[in-house]
Amino acid sequence: MLISQDDRLSFEKSKPGRRAIRLPEERYSGEDPLKNIPQGLLRQTSIGFPELGELDVVRHFINLSRKNFSVDTHFYPLGSCTMKYNPKVNEWAARQEKFTALHPLQDATTTQGMLQILWELEEYLKEISGMDRFTLQPAAGAHGELTGMMLVRAYHASRGGSTRTKVLVPDSSHGTNPASAALFGYHVVEIKSDSHGCVDLEDLKQHLDEHVACLMLTNPNTLGLFEKNILEITKLVHQHGGLLYYDGANLNPLLGIARPGDMGFDIIHINLHKTFSTPHGGGGPGSGPVGVKKHLMPFLPGPLMERTKKGYAWASPSPQSIGRVKLFHGNVGVMIRAYVYLRVLGKEGLRKVSEAAILNANYMKEMLKDVFKVATEGPCMHEFVLSLKSFVAQGVHAGDVGKRLLDFGFHAPTVHFPLVVPEALMIEPTETEARETLDLFIEAMKEIALEIATDPERVKTAPHTLPVRRPDDVLAARKPILSYRDQVREKVLLAEAVA
Ligand SMILES: *Cc1c(COP(=O)(O)O)cnc(C)c1O
Repeated sequence: MLISQDDRLSFEKSKPGRRAIRLPEERYSGEDPLKNIPQGLLRQTSIGFPELGELDVVRHFINLSRKNFSVDTHFYPLGSCTMKYNPKVNEWAARQEKFTALHPLQDATTTQGMLQILWELEEYLKEISGMDRFTLQPAAGAHGELTGMMLVRAYHASRGGSTRTKVLVPDSSHGTNPASAALFGYHVVEIKSDSHGCVDLEDLKQHLDEHVACLMLTNPNTLGLFEKNILEITKLVHQHGGLLYYDGANLNPLLGIARPGDMGFDIIHINLHKTFSTPHGGGGPGSGPVGVKKHLMPFLPGPLMERTKKGYAWASPSPQSIGRVKLFHGNVGVMIRAYVYLRVLGKEGLRKVSEAAILNANYMKEMLKDVFKVATEGPCMHEFVLSLKSFVAQGVHAGDVGKRLLDFGFHAPTVHFPLVVPEALMIEPTETEARETLDLFIEAMKEIALEIATDPERVKTAPHTLPVRRPDDVLAARKPILSYRDQVREKVLLAEAVA
């Protein structure tokens, strides 16, 4: 394997002395600013960054970005993790210097506007979810779950319930749920799904006893189904002294329609970066506010905000608080985006978001159900799951169909999740996609089904049109190549080994 001309062109453009900008040599008229750094700590050799003109840098990064998929360039029908379009006005607002130049330690009298935004955001979240109070600190959904587990333990401990060591999660749950409970030392017990894909009530009853601390649930669940027995489920768990945690990652189809607080949940997290429109993927930053009912309020992380005659202020934390879970006030930039998104849409707009998300998902499901097996019966909420089990005979797996979709210009849906569906392909179109886009995707899926019948190799070896085709995911995780130099070195070594 040789280093292709393309790699050299993309990655080795450095020429000694090239610069994008030149700063005046004599910037400091006074003392040498480096004077006080001890000699031994001063770098003796150049750091070795590439030396390039501005235009070379611009082209390099723009060209790399054009090899990528994003919501701004391609339809992104990822399931479970709502990846929807993030209106640019939110970005504009979060970038305003009036926000970015604030310091979290500034005296609250000088940041009243910012505090008002956080206060009102909390009010909106309370109204949307039916909870009594929120902490805005957690930085993501998983962080909210961990915070939730800390609240569960603090609550039971305050009532002498230290023998409550079990957390129940359905087998269709997102991996972060059992992981968060286990990380906090809980014993995780899996609850089966029934033949319709909802919580199996009989199996739940089997596991309910005085050791249950909590049941974690996402509703609609990861199959895109609303748990129709939700009131029965929350009643049963409460009767046995357990709490109910709502994983809010799938809140997108419920806005203005139903509230977790009314379903009987005690603690919830909301992924602002999913439902309320912040770009995500690639590691954040996110925001996972955690809301609770009254009986859990004393345990919330502090400080919480209060509104006094003199304005907004941070109240002193309750003595029973679990303490801070994040520095300062959390990822405020994400909160500003969520706030603007909510203000722009308003009450009716929000409900339309959910209605359109549900309509789009059901439209696609109906259009695909004659060609692909839908894993569940009846209407879905914001997402649905196909089972591609019947294609395994041709050697084609769900992951292959995901790869082939890339050639048609679509980001791959979630594949092989939820684990309860063999060869799962999970589709969530979201509310912002036009009918034409949905139709193009449906057409592509049907064409792929035809290919599987006539030329399965074409699907198994996809993608055919992208610069990166089938990376070895295991190797990529074990031996990550984190710098372009590693990549060039790796190729030289390989070329030598082959020669
Ligand atoms: C995304 C997701 C989570 C985790 O949220 P993060 O913000 O990514 O930490 C939990 N549950 C479900 C169902 C999700 O889709």
